[in-house]
Amino acid sequence: MMLKTLIGQRIDMLDKGFVELVDIMPHPDSDISGDLAIVNAARVSFLGESKGEEADKKLLFYLMRHRHTSPFEMVEFKFRLRAPLVTWWQLVRHRTANLNMQSGRYTPFEENDFYVPEVWRKQSASNKQASDGEIDLEAAADLSEKLITHYETAYKLYEEALEAGVSKELARLFLPGFSVYYTGVWKIDTHNLMHFLSLRMANDAQYEIRVYAQAIYQHFFKPALPWTAEAFEKYILQQE
Ligand SMILES: Cc1cc2nc3c(=O)[nH]c(=O)nc-3n(C[C@H](O)[C@H](O)[C@H](O)COP(=O)(O)OP(=O)(O)OC[C@H]3O[C@@H](n4cnc5c(N)ncnc54)[C@H](O)[C@@H]3O)c2cc1C
Repeated sequence: MMLKTLIGQRIDMLDKGFVELVDIMPHPDSDISGDLAIVNAARVSFLGESKGEEADKKLLFYLMRHRHTSPFEMVEFKFRLRAPLVTWWQLVRHRTANLNMQSGRYTPFEENDFYVPEVWRKQSASNKQASDGEIDLEAAADLSEKLITHYETAYKLYEEALEAGVSKELARLFLPGFSVYYTGVWKIDTHNLMHFLSLRMANDAQYEIRVYAQAIYQHFFKPALPWTAEAFEKYILQQE
């Protein structure tokens, strides 16, 4: 796949979210691939450069196997994400990413800026933090209807507060916090992205963040860094 076509590509997530690749470093216009940028960063230790595909790939696998992590920090990904606050709540814990968020003080929220889950997952009996199985269809339809009514009521109160002259920064107190969609730019280097992916693609991660992590990995990370992805699956993902 042409890497250039990855930039600007947007993958839709959940009911109203997306993940879009804004930029990669090294840029696809440069004559060096991301995998090679990692290898060349490692070779700077002894002032060397590419030694051909076979030796380069072998070195990259060596770096991954021995957790020689700093060369992987030389490649960066910048994404635009639209996700409900429940997902941002978890995303912002990854302190090694750089982040710039839409401002609810500046931009008013729209009527449909709220997450409605496709299915209602049940509380897990064995793990207090997790879900397991689904609520039956009839009860789920009822829950969705109630949730939408709740959003409509909340949004009406938000609008009323704005109309009464209340600032956007305070009027938003009427909105259901965890479900509001926010857009942000999220930049992270490959070493820390792999750490994020191994935590958030795992089965114990919440479904809503897992779909973002999986999309980032399948649609952007793997095509951009095929050797790194292969080594990551062999030495990191298999062991966690
Ligand atoms: C399944 C799951 C459940 C979770 N449940 C909870 C929960 O109940 N409550 C909760 O609060 N959080 C919870 N978290 C969040 C978790 O504790 C981490 O905050 C989050 O996963 C980010 O990981 P991190 O700190 O390793 O990543 P980053 O912030 O990206 O940091 C990467 C690495 O850099 C180093 N680092 C970064 N900052 C510092 C620092 N200030 N000091 C020292 N080393 C640093 C650490 O080695 C760290 O592993 C959960 C995460 C997962 C995946």
